[in-house]
Amino acid sequence: MVSRLSRSSMSVVNSSGALSLNIIAECSTTKARVCEMKLPHQTVDTPVFMPVGTQGTLKGLIPEQLEKLNCQIILGNTYHLGHRPGPELLDKAGGLHNFMNWKHALLTDSGGFQMVSLLKLAEITEEGVKFQSPHDDSMMLLTPEHSMSIQNSIGADIMMQLDDVVHSSTQGVRVEEAMNRSIRWLDRCIKAHKDTHKQNLFAIIQGGLDAELRKKCAKEMIKRDVPGFAIGGLSGGEEKSQFWKMVTLSTDILPKCKPRYLMGVGFAVDLVVCCALGCDMFDCVYPTRTARFGTALTPSGNMCLKVKQFEKDFRAIDEDCLCSTCRHYTRAYLHSIVTHETVAAPLLTVHNVSYQLNLMKQVRQSIIEDRFPQFIQQFLDKLFPKKDYPDWVRNALASVNVKLES
Ligand SMILES: [Zn+2]
Repeated sequence: MVSRLSRSSMSVVNSSGALSLNIIAECSTTKARVCEMKLPHQTVDTPVFMPVGTQGTLKGLIPEQLEKLNCQIILGNTYHLGHRPGPELLDKAGGLHNFMNWKHALLTDSGGFQMVSLLKLAEITEEGVKFQSPHDDSMMLLTPEHSMSIQNSIGADIMMQLDDVVHSSTQGVRVEEAMNRSIRWLDRCIKAHKDTHKQNLFAIIQGGLDAELRKKCAKEMIKRDVPGFAIGGLSGGEEKSQFWKMVTLSTDILPKCKPRYLMGVGFAVDLVVCCALGCDMFDCVYPTRTARFGTALTPSGNMCLKVKQFEKDFRAIDEDCLCSTCRHYTRAYLHSIVTHETVAAPLLTVHNVSYQLNLMKQVRQSIIEDRFPQFIQQFLDKLFPKKDYPDWVRNALASVNVKLES
């Protein structure tokens, strides 16, 4: 079945900075869409899941393994890369792409979130994020200008503004202060960004769980003509009923012609629901982190390979999965090595990244063929065979005209 929205009639191209977005198909029921996002190093098919490579590459994998999985974009952490290898060496190497031999797209965060979440004594002032160096205990300051300078040295296709992040449980004036400061810091980032012809700066919408603040933040940031927008400050343990409402009100306001990146989201259910709510890009450490602890992601849920029931199970993790781990290794073998042998981590990481990328490919295909609502039902039936879907999933999907079977 071919979508009623033919490829040529749907095509809306927007170019901004070093990015152009071509809308290939829109779901006729939900807010989901499929786009080609053209970046300097790679054209990325969206909706896309971006695996997180803290120090450049993913823990335990070499770039060639990611290429074999058809991974088009990965995420690097500015905080870690700023320490090692550091801006000076990155400048000498001609940026991170050259340094690590990654030919495809890269996205870097601002470094701020890592500082606030990892470091003791982080303090936010109007100037920037003050923190104690984990190396020599001296006090350091990350300003919007400094974050841009490190990210310009890294040279990622997409870089994120420094924002004032508050935990999603924070309420009251602090949320409003952080939202307003994030707008001011966006202006400082725009001014400091040196490579607009080859790197794209994304704004991050804040505003906590307050609908009015989020709308205000989005409207202000849209006035700045940045190449893309992120929805930030969510996925921090807030109620799911609040989470999806903040997501959907953001995508309602954001311009259709620019990419929308929902930060820190990577559970399969969340990905599928938030695609329906109109998000294009996602990242999360979960799939790769959980692989290192011996858990494989499958269409029917998580499989903890440490469990004794797999001792004599000679099937692949997922018999329909085409990844090299599923083609060559059994659950029994993986059970015998997980958490003992270092080779287990890359074997499971390959599978979990493959699972995430394949899920997004299926989402894209179903949108192009205009059968995304049917795909959602089939996807959820595998995870919840008793149809006991969480309320927030049912409500979020109902808000975009998908009524689940009961
Ligand atoms: Zn697999």
